[in-house]
Amino acid sequence: MISLVALKRQFESIKAEILAAVEQVIESGHYISGPKVTELEEKIAKKLGVRHVITVANGTDALIIAQRALGIGPGDEVITTPFTFFASAESVSNVGATPVFVDIDRQSYNIDVRKIEEKITPATKAIIPVHLFGQSAEMDELQAIARKHNLLVIEDACQAFGAMYKGRMVGSLGDVACFSFFPTKNFSTLGDGGMIATSNDEIAALCRKLRHHGGSKKYYHDLIGYNSRLDELHAAILLIVLEKIDEWNEQRRQAANYYREKLTHLPFLRIAPETQERTHTYHLFCLEAANRAALMQRFNDCHIQTGVYYPCPLHLQNAYQHLGYKLGDFPVAEEMANSLFAIPMSPFLRREEQDQVIETLLGFGGE
Ligand SMILES: *Cc1c(COP(=O)(O)O)cnc(C)c1O
Repeated sequence: MISLVALKRQFESIKAEILAAVEQVIESGHYISGPKVTELEEKIAKKLGVRHVITVANGTDALIIAQRALGIGPGDEVITTPFTFFASAESVSNVGATPVFVDIDRQSYNIDVRKIEEKITPATKAIIPVHLFGQSAEMDELQAIARKHNLLVIEDACQAFGAMYKGRMVGSLGDVACFSFFPTKNFSTLGDGGMIATSNDEIAALCRKLRHHGGSKKYYHDLIGYNSRLDELHAAILLIVLEKIDEWNEQRRQAANYYREKLTHLPFLRIAPETQERTHTYHLFCLEAANRAALMQRFNDCHIQTGVYYPCPLHLQNAYQHLGYKLGDFPVAEEMANSLFAIPMSPFLRREEQDQVIETLLGFGGE
């Protein structure tokens, strides 16, 4: 079986270092909020070019805590995309605000910046662009709109650690950015984890309080917060992964280039272009095909794993029925939900495995 993400291979490649780090953490006696967490936060802040990184328990909490710190709550509207993982919008609902969806751009699958302004109302407080599949949203255009209407920008960078936008690191572009370290993300650990990045001192201090029961002094609480911290063990593992991430992202990009070179001419497929100013990290490599079901069946028969991201756009989720959206509201997102699928992508995907994936597609075309 060729797996979609080759996760086991990824962690096996650094298994000896991980085991040594685990031993070191056990012997240090610090398991929560220890020196590894601090070291990781400082190193990532430097890499992204931001003043502060605040690690938390997962990417969803990062989004919730960031919005709380920015003062987003009941009565506020937050604009985001319906074509993303549920947490992008769920976090908005969890702080008591209302997600307002805007259709996506066919070229990048990211929020269509040309359609944002028509959704802005006096209640709009923020925009959450999602850098989907590892590629930045159109941040210059988006930030111009945000400035014009005095809106906050929260990057959902959960799939895009290391991605660049016009030479700047994703995660350093908005007021705040949120990342996930969930195992399948391109920068990940052996469990749950996440972080918030910001260069705003005040927001950073609030996030630090919120992740730790709303206080900075033990047993004194200024706010109603959360218990949402990254474990010392995960920080130790992420410090090892951080040393590898540029190389791993580059390996993903090389694998993507190879797919593009071999598959671009196939008439029954469409591959969204990668623009020069937006360096993709290929959390996933997706293809568009009208006959997706038949292609996925063929892959399955050939023992090649594929996946659908995402089969149900957020405006059509049961949980958002009360918002009153209907089928047809966001035609591009709906079309992509029916035609996109991901093929194997990993820094550890072997060339001969890629060739098998490619041959499966070429063979399909011959029928
Ligand atoms: C994974 C993901 C999240 C949530 O991260 P968790 O760590 O799983 O909570 C949020 N947004 C996007 C776009 C994601 O891909």
